[in-house]
Amino acid sequence: MRKKAIIVGGGFTGCTMAYMLKEKGYDVTIYEGSDILGGGCRTFFYRGHPYTYGPHHLIMKTGDQEAADYFNKFLKFRNLDHHVLTYPNGGDQFYNYPPIRSDIEKMPHKDKIKEEIANRDENAKIENLEDYWKNSVGETLYGMFVEQYSKKMWGIENNQELDQDIAFSLKKEPIRDGVKEYFEGAKYIIYPENLDGYNPYFEKTTENCNVQFNTKVEKFDVQRKAVLVNGEWDEADILVSTTSPDKLLDYKYGELKYKGRDFLKIILPIEKITPDPYYFLYYAGDEPYTRICEYKLLTGYESKETLIGIEFPSENNKLYPYPTKAEVDRANRYFAELPEGVLSMGRQGAYKYKDMYEIYNDCKDAVAKLD
Ligand SMILES: Cc1cc2nc3c(=O)[nH]c(=O)nc-3n(C[C@H](O)[C@H](O)[C@H](O)COP(=O)(O)OP(=O)(O)OC[C@H]3O[C@@H](n4cnc5c(N)ncnc54)[C@H](O)[C@@H]3O)c2cc1C
Repeated sequence: MRKKAIIVGGGFTGCTMAYMLKEKGYDVTIYEGSDILGGGCRTFFYRGHPYTYGPHHLIMKTGDQEAADYFNKFLKFRNLDHHVLTYPNGGDQFYNYPPIRSDIEKMPHKDKIKEEIANRDENAKIENLEDYWKNSVGETLYGMFVEQYSKKMWGIENNQELDQDIAFSLKKEPIRDGVKEYFEGAKYIIYPENLDGYNPYFEKTTENCNVQFNTKVEKFDVQRKAVLVNGEWDEADILVSTTSPDKLLDYKYGELKYKGRDFLKIILPIEKITPDPYYFLYYAGDEPYTRICEYKLLTGYESKETLIGIEFPSENNKLYPYPTKAEVDRANRYFAELPEGVLSMGRQGAYKYKDMYEIYNDCKDAVAKLD
C-alpha cells in the first residue's frame, strides 16, 4: 500500500516537500490556508508589474550541480548580481553594504573607522548582537549601518536584547575590497526568466497532489500524525508542518515570538530609480521603513514606469523568527516533543530564517531519511 503524507502549508517548503515525497512514492495531501500556492515566494502583479513580498532571488552554492539540476527541471533562470546600497544613520550619502574599502575613504570619520577595524579583538567575548558587530566592524560603522536598522527591524530599544546572531564567528576580514565580493565566490544568484517568477514551480511540484485551498489547520494531534480539517481528523504516515511549531502542541510552552513586515507598493513615472547594478536600498536611520526594492532588475519586466516595494517592520505577520536564545530554547522544547514522522520545517516550522536554497537542502535531507 502507498504511504500517505499530509503537508500543512503550500509555500516553498510545502511544495518542495510535496514533490520530493511524491518521488519517494507517497500520496500527498496539502492543506493550504490561502487560495494560492507559493506563500511568501509567490509572484503577484500590480498594474502589470510583477513583484514578490520582498525580493526573492535564489542564492545558490557554487558547484552544487545537484541543486542546479533540480531547479532547472522546473524553471529557466537568469544570473543576477546582488548589490545593496545603505543610507546610513546620520549620513548624507549612500554607501555599499556590507562596507567596502573605497567607501570608507569617503566617510567623514574614515581615520577613526580604520583605527577601530585595525584594533578589533578577534578573541573578544561576544554575548549579543551589539558585541558581535562592534567587534566585527568597529563602533563607528556599527552606529552607521547596524544600530538603528536592527532596532527598528526588531522593534527593540537595545541590540543587546538579541543574541541569536552571535552564532556567526567573527570574520577574519570584515571589510570587502569591492562590490564583487558580496558572496566571496562561494555563492551565486539566479532568478526565474519568466515574469511570474517561481509560480510555475509551485504548480509543477504539486501536480497529482490533493491540494485543499482555503483550509487553515488550527488543530494537530502529533501522536497520530493527524490534523483537524472541517471538523474531521485526517491521519497520515508522515505529517509535514510548515506553520509555527507552537501550534502543533497547542502552545503548551507559550507562543513563539516573530517579527513581520508590511509592504507598500508604489509605481513611479520613471524608467528606473536605482543606479545599476543596485536594486536594493537599506535605510539605517530613524525613517520608519527598512528597505526599498525596485523590482525591474530582478523580474526583467520592461516598462516606462517602475515599481518599488517599501518594507515596514510590523506585527501583522510572522515572517522573522525572533533571534534570541530564550525564543530558540522555547522552540526547541516544542521540537523535542515531536514524535518520529512529524516534521516541522520551513521558515516558521524550523523557527529559523531560511532562504529557499537552505529549504531545498532541508527537504532533500528530510526525505532521504524516510523509508
Ligand atoms: C521579506 C522577505 C524576503 C525574502 N527574500 C528571500 C530571498 O531573496 N531569497 C530567498 O531564498 N529567500 C528569501 N526569503 C525567505 C523565503 O521567503 C522563505 O525561505 C520561504 O518563503 C519559506 O517558505 P515556507 O513554505 O517555509 O513559508 P511561507 O512562504 O511562509 O509559506 C507558508 C505557507 O503555509 C501556509 N500556512 C501557514 N499556516 C498554515 C496553517 N495553519 N494551515 C494551512 N496553511 C498554512 C501559508 O498560507 C503559506 O502559503 C525572504 C523572506 C522574507 C520574509
